[in-house]
Amino acid sequence: MRADRIFTNARLASMDPALPGLGIVERGMVAEAGGRIIYAGPIREMAAAEMVDCENRWITPGLIDCHTHLVFAGNRAGEFEARLNGASYEDISRAGGGIAATVNATRAASEAELLAAARGRLAPLLAEGVTTVEVKSGYGLSAESEYKLLRVIRALGRDADVAVTFLGAHGFPPDMAREDYVALLCEQMIPHIAAEKLADAVDGFCEGIAFSPEEIERVFTAARAHGLRVKLHADQLSDLHGARLAAKFQALSADHLEYTSEEGIAAMAASGTVAVLLPGAFYTLRETQAPPVAAFRKHGVHMAVSTDLNPGTSPLNSLLLAMNMAATQFRLTVEECLLGITRNAAAALGRQDVGVLAAGAKCHLAIWEIERPAELVYRIGFNPLYKRIWSAS
Ligand SMILES: [Zn+2]
Repeated sequence: MRADRIFTNARLASMDPALPGLGIVERGMVAEAGGRIIYAGPIREMAAAEMVDCENRWITPGLIDCHTHLVFAGNRAGEFEARLNGASYEDISRAGGGIAATVNATRAASEAELLAAARGRLAPLLAEGVTTVEVKSGYGLSAESEYKLLRVIRALGRDADVAVTFLGAHGFPPDMAREDYVALLCEQMIPHIAAEKLADAVDGFCEGIAFSPEEIERVFTAARAHGLRVKLHADQLSDLHGARLAAKFQALSADHLEYTSEEGIAAMAASGTVAVLLPGAFYTLRETQAPPVAAFRKHGVHMAVSTDLNPGTSPLNSLLLAMNMAATQFRLTVEECLLGITRNAAAALGRQDVGVLAAGAKCHLAIWEIERPAELVYRIGFNPLYKRIWSAS
């Protein structure tokens, strides 16, 4: 077999599930043909059009940020200031701030303006070796403006492998009755999005200040009826049994989960739903109840870590820092953090072709100037990326 390119003299953290831990190969190489990995493992003889000497640097799969809201307009720095002056997230939301403020600015923005702003937020992630990023809509809350956001998200695919998630069930529009909006989502928007393939999955925000479990159930029933997988913002501020609801619909992931009960965790384990932990929101909101990490371990629920990059509750533009926060605030191990931004983040997107260095996967690589993988978690505000390899095909 002849490769297009071989990255050799490397140390691999392959994340290969067939190997223990991070799937480490001390004297390794990655061979690529046509944008796909054809071999990853110990150095061996193989012909290639191009040989890249990695000079003993580490290679991981390209990183995956599996939960972001990075397409929006406006600026919520004023709310940050208000929170410092004592207002809670719920106070701000009830006073017409929060998601509503971003919705107004986003509706008014053109597609070109939204795309330019989103590229500016994506760039720092790419500079840290992110090659796959999930981006949610959810700041339009009308059919026209949500479709606009989905088009902008797809257009980001020029620079990264983008997973598009429809989050129409993020909040309620100011100009429509609650039940009418749920009907619009279920009867018009989801069928249109599925038919036109505008999104890869459907998400919802289940919380006292957002959608009730019954409303989410209607949205998820419509999504599944149209062949779309689901995800859920669950149990972030209270336990509305969101994890159990997500599991009932075989959700790809349930995200946040600070208040999830053990019963919900057992249901997630049975449905194979990934727990996406979002330490940036926990940090920004100065929360005190950490997600039940010990129970996720006990039940064998896979954990992913993401930035939750959004203008209100997590203006976190670094996946490396998200890992450090997950370790420091939630006590995730280095291994859990690194699997959480590679293999388990891929699972949260329903993808098997990214997040691992193994034959058949896309050749998305991050090459690092580090002595050991723990440095990626341990250091704060430090980016040791040497090179990002992204295969568009
Ligand atoms: Zn979110």
